[in-house]
Amino acid sequence: MYMAAIVGAGPAGLAAAKRLQERGWKSVILEEHAVVGDPVACTGLISSSGVNELGIRKEVEETLLNKLRGAQIFSHNHEMIEVKRTETVAYVIDRGAFDRALAREAIAAGAELRLETGMIDVRKETVFVEHKGRGEIIKAKVIVGADGANSKTRRIMGINTGIENFVHAYQVDVKGHFDPHFAQVFLGNYAKGFFAWIVPENEERARVGLASTSGNVRKDFNVFINEKNITGEACDMCSKLIPVGEPLKATVKDNMLLAGDAAFQTKASTGGGIILGMHAGRICADAIHDHFASDAPLKNYEKGCNALNNDLRLHWKIRQFINSKSEEQIDKLFREMGKAKVGEFLSEHGDMDRPSRFIGKALTKPSMWRLLPQGLKFLST
Ligand SMILES: Cc1cc2nc3c(=O)[nH]c(=O)nc-3n(C[C@H](O)[C@H](O)[C@H](O)COP(=O)(O)OP(=O)(O)OC[C@H]3O[C@@H](n4cnc5c(N)ncnc54)[C@H](O)[C@@H]3O)c2cc1C
Repeated sequence: MYMAAIVGAGPAGLAAAKRLQERGWKSVILEEHAVVGDPVACTGLISSSGVNELGIRKEVEETLLNKLRGAQIFSHNHEMIEVKRTETVAYVIDRGAFDRALAREAIAAGAELRLETGMIDVRKETVFVEHKGRGEIIKAKVIVGADGANSKTRRIMGINTGIENFVHAYQVDVKGHFDPHFAQVFLGNYAKGFFAWIVPENEERARVGLASTSGNVRKDFNVFINEKNITGEACDMCSKLIPVGEPLKATVKDNMLLAGDAAFQTKASTGGGIILGMHAGRICADAIHDHFASDAPLKNYEKGCNALNNDLRLHWKIRQFINSKSEEQIDKLFREMGKAKVGEFLSEHGDMDRPSRFIGKALTKPSMWRLLPQGLKFLST
């Protein structure tokens, strides 16, 4: 009998497993694939502030590909907002290697990792798994569903999520010539409901991707690379869903809890889920610790996520707000934001993960007051 079975060896599950084990609770991680972090579907862009807060410098340094100083965000009609710092604001990591580094940490703390072990069903403290084609049973007091966007645990808990809460992403590694210091984000008709991106690994290689709600992301991607005249040898591709819905309010049912993409703890504005998913994994582990140590209800996990959810909800509102605008309205908004010096403001105060930390500061900048009508519309979204 394990104290906790964690379904999924991604960042959220591995963060939860390590924390649980450190707090003395025997945990097993169940991963359906033969290798952690393979296959990988991710750009691997994470904020330096998030890395510092989580204390994962070692894992990032081991898997670091590039350091970025900012981003250029383009509207449909090529209006641009630039966020630019003199120091590193984000890292590009080898995501597969990063997950394997997190797994080594969890195992070193004492957690058990079972590969090629897919969770099929859960009944109370019994987890039914398939290992190399054979059915097996694992016993655990608590089950953490950290099994990603298409979570089976979430379905077993009876939580239904419609397809409108996801975008479909497609990404290719391209060899060519790129500015190694900046990520680029493109809003355009080719990326209905989301955006396209170029994230450089170095001067000669970049992750070029697009996510949309059109139902044909490959076609959208081809329109984008033709329009931007992106040429070069394509090396690797991946395709996957990203949750962009509101973070789930109910993430606990009986002895089951959800963390990471499974709980929609993903930034709906950008699709990033590594940093906040790991925070959620740790909060989840702390709630399980309190449950075992002092009989606190597991439901406390939902309360523990309040601050995280405030930021996730802001990301979700930003996404709703952008998606409610026409191409012309977005162009106009970008022009207004340029005059209000939003780029300069974000360069000084922005935080990729936690908008709650800088939105209030915007009110103190007179240049930003011209955006007040849009700000009020945003709040009423
Ligand atoms: C194209 C693309 C680009 C992205 N780029 C970024 C980025 O630059 N930065 C960022 O922060 N985020 C990015 N994301 C999002 C990020 O990848 C996710 O938010 C993050 O991986 C979520 O972590 P997780 O641990 O919740 O789930 P996952 O990383 O999805 O891990 C879930 C694990 O569970 C396993 N699993 C699933 N079902 C079962 C089962 N039944 N039994 C056993 N194991 C199971 C899976 O194999 C997987 O290993 C991107 C996503 C996509 C699709």
